[in-house]
Amino acid sequence: MRIDILTVLPELLEGPLSHSIVQRARDKGILDLRIHSLRDYTHDARRTVDDYAYGPDAGMVLKPEPVFEAVEALQQDGEFGEIIYTSPDGETLSQPLANTLSLKGRILIICGHYKGIDHRVREHLVTREVSIGDYVLSGGELPAAVMVDAIARLLPGAIGDETSALSDSFQDGLVAPPAYTRPAEYRGWEVPAILRSGNFGEIAKWQHAQALARTKALRPEMYQEYMAGGEE
Ligand code: SAH
Repeated sequence: MRIDILTVLPELLEGPLSHSIVQRARDKGILDLRIHSLRDYTHDARRTVDDYAYGPDAGMVLKPEPVFEAVEALQQDGEFGEIIYTSPDGETLSQPLANTLSLKGRILIICGHYKGIDHRVREHLVTREVSIGDYVLSGGELPAAVMVDAIARLLPGAIGDETSALSDSFQDGLVAPPAYTRPAEYRGWEVPAILRSGNFGEIAKWQHAQALARTKALRPEMYQEYMAGGEE
């Protein structure tokens, strides 16, 4: 999969996307991640990417020209399956959305900054708007990094144990069961005996029951939906 990111702050993205599973996916060639500076698509000496907002509100807005020119230049390498704009009023990122995006051959993420981006970009260029939650950040870089991380771990081969991403929370409509490691007893607190029994059938049943109970307690709406889905 190829992911292109367009940003005014490439430095902010390199750190979070150069470690752990994302870096491993990049090293293996599973993920071709390219971070582009919006300033490379300006024509003036000061490499201006923003301008004053029309109207009475103070603040700067990202100009449309460098964004359109950048996208058109990047499209020379082929079309994007999705052109995403990070926005607090977009569709909230969820596991199903991450799954959907992980199946696209190539996507572009445009990071907003300042007061946002000229609305013509959103109307005439962007195909999807994604939020990472109902709060406002200073730029779309951290949301882009969150999206790339969520997508990268789903790409086949990115995680050593192929089944591991599927057992994560949300993947089956439930939160994950509790995880334990050694020591079997710590400060008098014991790891549940069932997990140490070696009986994988019984362990699977226990984990499912735990996932159900935890979903019911922690995410009642998700639990309702799961039960309505007709499964157990
Ligand atoms: N004035 C805008 C917010 C600007 S914040 C508004 O009220 O909607 C600057 C940029 O950060 C946004 O343009 C967006 O690209 C990004 N951003 C901020 N919060 C975000 C969130 N929760 N999810 C995704 N992107 C976000």
